[in-house]
Amino acid sequence: MVTVQIPFNRPGFVGSEIEYIQDAVKRGHISGDGYYSKQCHALLEGALGVRKTLLTTSCTHALEMSAILLDIQPGDEVICPSFTFVSTINAYVLRGAKPVFVDVRADTLNLDETKLEAAITPRTKAILVVHYGGVGCEMDVIMEIANRHNIPVVEDNAHGLFARYKGQYLGTFGVMATQSFHETKNFQCGEGGALLINSPAYVERAEIIREKGTNRSRFFRGQVDKYTWVDVGSSYLPSDLLAAFLYAQLEARDDIQSKRRAIWERYERELGDWAAEFGVQLPFVPAHCEQAYHVFYIVMPSLETRQRLIAHLKAQGILSVFHYLPLHLSDMGKQFGGQTGDCPVTERLGDCLLRLPFYNDLSADEQSRVIDAIHQFDGWA
Ligand SMILES: *Cc1c(COP(=O)(O)O)cnc(C)c1O
Repeated sequence: MVTVQIPFNRPGFVGSEIEYIQDAVKRGHISGDGYYSKQCHALLEGALGVRKTLLTTSCTHALEMSAILLDIQPGDEVICPSFTFVSTINAYVLRGAKPVFVDVRADTLNLDETKLEAAITPRTKAILVVHYGGVGCEMDVIMEIANRHNIPVVEDNAHGLFARYKGQYLGTFGVMATQSFHETKNFQCGEGGALLINSPAYVERAEIIREKGTNRSRFFRGQVDKYTWVDVGSSYLPSDLLAAFLYAQLEARDDIQSKRRAIWERYERELGDWAAEFGVQLPFVPAHCEQAYHVFYIVMPSLETRQRLIAHLKAQGILSVFHYLPLHLSDMGKQFGGQTGDCPVTERLGDCLLRLPFYNDLSADEQSRVIDAIHQFDGWA
């Protein structure tokens, strides 16, 4: 009976990727910061109005760079939501930081800004926010608290490229922000990321850390006559081949986002009555947020009903996935003192949230199959 499988994600191609990669090869510079890297930097800086963009090998690596730039030391406390991907905080734990997990709001699944101030101590060195699904956190409140305590904010904006909060682009609020171009994200090059820098004070050191701790970027600009080892660092530049692939995707951003928007809105429209009837929560987007259409999730009434729905969809060849397992209850999180009950909303989402198939080229037929299968689900009791 099952014919074609509907995967959870299928990486999107816009068509010009291979041509741009061939061009990068012809240009004869396929290591980092070649022609296409510069094109990506200029496009992102121009579109978002950020001071400086640096492509990186991943969002994880951009987060690692941010932790080095903020001079995170062993024993420093870093606040972040427990409902996020491991890398958000792991990049800081790698420098010896102690995570301080804050719960998320039950409506947007973003860091609960009303719980932020109570988590701040004299040891707090950074506040990490994640714009879940590309819906902005309450940045007015978060920035006011952070500024009053003089604590830098870093935005893990892996989901939220080109989305806005009160008209301002996500990724432009904190001292820095990080992007992901992993193949599961809206714009992708397989593996890739970027560090967006809003505070000019971090720009020069960011270039050095990304170039193995050398002042090579200044050398290439003719600002020094030889380059040398000046700081700690690593190798965080992607090949220009990847930048060429990515540039094709970024150029097509309006097409990609309008496809994703149509899919997202259809899910919302055609699942609304069903969700209301069975007590299922659908995504909430505040009126002052223009979202990025990165995920379509549903929150089922219980762990049991979620697991049954996953199995029901799978039997029809439809793959749905859950995330995130609460970080404070992971093996690592427990080593930092995490306990059941610390973040009740996150714990419920870990049990009950389900992500539906969602990719740029999800066809109308495929989406009909997913929606019909959900309507047919009868595993409530
Ligand atoms: C995907 C993701 C990351 C990691 O991105 P990579 O580019 O794979 O390192 C980090 N944070 C969040 C919120 C993500 O969704």
